[in-house]
Amino acid sequence: MTGGVASSLGKGIISASLAKLLQSRGFNVTIQKLDPYLNIDPGTLNPYEHGECYVTEDGAETDLDLGHYERFLNIRTSQDNNVTTGRIYKSVIEKERRGDYLGKTVQIIPHITDEIKRRIMLMGTHHKYDVVITEIGGTVGDIESLPYIEAVRQLKWELGYKAMFIHLTLVPYLSASKELKTKPTQHSVKALLEEGIQPDILVLRAEQELSENLRKKVALFCNVDVDAVIQSVDVDTIYKVPILMQEQKLDEIAMRKLKLESKNDSDMSDWKNFLELMANANGNVKIGLVGKYVELPDAYKSIIEAVNHAATYSGKKAKIELIHSENLTDENAKSKLKGLQGIIVAPGFGSRGIEGKIVAVRYARENNVPLLGICLGMQMAVVEFARNVLHWDKAGSTEMDHATPWPVIDIMEDQKNITNKGGTMRLGAYDCKLKEGSRAREIYGKEIVRERHRHRYEYNSKFLGEYEAAGMVATGTNPDTGLVEIMEIPSHKWFVCCQFHPEYSSTVLSPHPLFLSFVKAAIEG
Ligand code: GLN
Repeated sequence: MTGGVASSLGKGIISASLAKLLQSRGFNVTIQKLDPYLNIDPGTLNPYEHGECYVTEDGAETDLDLGHYERFLNIRTSQDNNVTTGRIYKSVIEKERRGDYLGKTVQIIPHITDEIKRRIMLMGTHHKYDVVITEIGGTVGDIESLPYIEAVRQLKWELGYKAMFIHLTLVPYLSASKELKTKPTQHSVKALLEEGIQPDILVLRAEQELSENLRKKVALFCNVDVDAVIQSVDVDTIYKVPILMQEQKLDEIAMRKLKLESKNDSDMSDWKNFLELMANANGNVKIGLVGKYVELPDAYKSIIEAVNHAATYSGKKAKIELIHSENLTDENAKSKLKGLQGIIVAPGFGSRGIEGKIVAVRYARENNVPLLGICLGMQMAVVEFARNVLHWDKAGSTEMDHATPWPVIDIMEDQKNITNKGGTMRLGAYDCKLKEGSRAREIYGKEIVRERHRHRYEYNSKFLGEYEAAGMVATGTNPDTGLVEIMEIPSHKWFVCCQFHPEYSSTVLSPHPLFLSFVKAAIEG
């Protein structure tokens, strides 16, 4: 899957939609994202650059598209599903240093391209998927993506009919002349052809329906079958895209090109049921999301989707209000937060906006508004409790205040001597043991759960006695290390804060129990 004309056309959603349709026909499908930048992974990238950093169960910090893949396919992705140029070069250079190339000159072709091909093929040989959709980030013509395009060109040559190309472009609408224009698509396909790739299917993103004539014209100029010119018109929810693709037979055309026989009739009934619930939502549930990236909802992609899933299964439409934590004070909290049926305090790093997060927690706690604190959100709930209930007024996290006399959140022992920033946090899924009789235990309905983490700091258990005596209790702990993973206030209507990220594992067909319970409490009021 390549993209042309412009970025952000939704390659991830089209890939996930096709994967979903093939999965519904009995294939074991995965999607892999190849990102042409030099960072080893997006873990060190500012969300302003890249949106949310998504974390896999095996602890990889990855592109947010992997979140779409998991939410659509209800499968788990891994380290191998996200490859960056940085990672490719790192392994080639390490091999060179080891002497593996036996004195040869190491070059982009064949060494870099071979490494790219090896990582693509790994999804079939090692992970045993029937179909692998490989999405190349960026836009055709970018200098950075050239080695990837060259690698897949070679793979097509080696694999024959077992490989095919889908190209996603934009068909702009010129309002002055009231016309949809295909020239950018033609140019983009030409750029692909120059790099040796003939697309098999074209998906055209447009604001309006494409006419039969327009499709014929694109087919003729770009050497593709007319039925393989597919439109992707703007829709109100990304979850409709698989059905729109199915109506245009994207899956059948792909199977025809790949000479694949469907393993069973396509069954999208669960998916359609979800869309129906969405369409029949009876009113809204208003949730506030307090964080510092309000201009950039992509920074909270998985949280927003997890709320959407939970609201849909609760018969409501989620109205999510992003609230800037930097502008929140005890004085304006009431006016900014009133009317919210539930409040989520977002994850994050560094001190910007943390005081506003503490204000939001206080408002929710004192006004009995359901509160879900996630990661830094949990840590700030712990700080709020220390300051305003235990009256330890300078309590804080040592991430922001080294000298606090009450380090209620402190660096984890095994993080103390780490200096490198990349990939060194506590990452990936860990077991969490839930306390008998707690709300968390009731919500999950079992004793041991596994959730994903991404942090360096933790709740400082030496203060637990005072917290529990005052009404905030630890209800989830890591069974191996004893680290506190969940803090609750049982006397509150719904106050659950977790050190892990439940949002990463909520999918369309398996909404997350914590979000379901939180949204239910918000609706019940
Ligand atoms: N900054 C905090 C830590 O490192 C929380 C991280 C997060 O919210 N993901 O522990």
